[in-house]
Amino acid sequence: MNAQCYVNEVYNDVVKRNGNEPEFLQAVKEVLNSLVPVLERHSEYIEDGIVERLVEPERMIVFRVPWIDDNGKVHVNRGFRVQFNSAIGPYKGGLRFHPTVNASIIKFLGFEQIFKNSLTGLPIGGGKGGADFDPKGKSNREIMRFCQSFMSELFRHVGQFTDIPAGDIGVGGREIGYLFGEYKKIKNQYEAGVLTGKGINYGGSLTRKEATGYGLIYFVERMLQAKNKDFRGKTVIVSGSGNVAIYAIEKAQELGATVVACSDSNGYVYDKDGIDLDYVKEIKEVQRKRISEYIKYRPQAEYHEGCSGIWTIKCDIALPCATQNEIDENSAKILVENGVIAVGEGANMPSTSEAVSVFLDSNVLFGPAKAANAGGVATSALEMSQNSMRLSWSFEEVDNRLKKIMINIYENVSSAAAEYGCEDNLVLGANIAGFLKVADAMLQEGIV
Ligand code: GLU
Repeated sequence: MNAQCYVNEVYNDVVKRNGNEPEFLQAVKEVLNSLVPVLERHSEYIEDGIVERLVEPERMIVFRVPWIDDNGKVHVNRGFRVQFNSAIGPYKGGLRFHPTVNASIIKFLGFEQIFKNSLTGLPIGGGKGGADFDPKGKSNREIMRFCQSFMSELFRHVGQFTDIPAGDIGVGGREIGYLFGEYKKIKNQYEAGVLTGKGINYGGSLTRKEATGYGLIYFVERMLQAKNKDFRGKTVIVSGSGNVAIYAIEKAQELGATVVACSDSNGYVYDKDGIDLDYVKEIKEVQRKRISEYIKYRPQAEYHEGCSGIWTIKCDIALPCATQNEIDENSAKILVENGVIAVGEGANMPSTSEAVSVFLDSNVLFGPAKAANAGGVATSALEMSQNSMRLSWSFEEVDNRLKKIMINIYENVSSAAAEYGCEDNLVLGANIAGFLKVADAMLQEGIV
């Protein structure tokens, strides 16, 4: 069968089955479009139904998460875990706690994770999970009870050789600690490798916290270097102010850039002299407050309500590190008009497909999420290695490995793009390079 017809047929089936899941369809469409030239060369993938198997999760778990708030009131949330693909390793991917979480969000994230994890070069399959729970304004004890209830169901589906969750939006070191404590209690065994992003004193890895943000900068640095450019003296916008954003800002500053803005879901701060990261860390990591607090520390900075305004600030490099679809076509056009030279995606799918087209058509260097933000999950895999060996590496050791992995990802992605005739299209390159490893494993493992 003709590759384009095959892809159309598979996509139509995906729409039929998941018509009410727009984010999932968006992620699938982008990948399938990239695969047509690969399928033209490799009819064996069509014959073995690789693509129709790839778009259907191996398993999707949906469960009730009841918990009791500090006033004794009962609440019920919905928990999810999608175990998308285990061809190259156990399912691996974070947990997101956010009120917008639903099946579409979890499936788009799980689907992306398959290719991202493959690109790391490490043996990890694709999975993702979470709940429509809103951690905002909850006490520590409420968070703990929620995590315990969530794990009291999830434990039967995960394990170091089966499925290894980690953090994502709304799930950081505190939540992983509570989840791990509950898992350990239920199983009565110390299985450190069941979760990653753990605290350093109970099996966590140095550099894991910094890894997604640092990795993003290592990737973008390599992408700039290919065009004889670097971060020095550049004006950078980083959206978000969570774990990814904070450590992207830290590394970009270290490389000589001026980061002038960051944000949260309520609004953004613009500090033209450069964001003072110590205050952002204090507000977000210690006080767990809103980014609007920043102007209390830095009265010369501006705070603006609403998120999309951040992309109207003039910059050389834009690093969306907040959430999906935060850059739409209009924001992308404004960034281009303002002279942006590079965009690196720290969040998952932060640019709409129209925005991606604007960047590619304008020859903006564009590092797609599944390549550019793979440093987090790559370092999770390094955490699993350390857990298996029962030893821990130094910060430098892990950081060096992370840097090598990010550079390798860039090389693989750009050579896959070149091989398929689109040298600077790293979207295509990432989808193809990520796909090939998984597809070959699926061929070798038979139709399962
Ligand atoms: N949530 C992160 C991601 O999107 C990290 C996942 C992990 O470490 O397993 O890749």
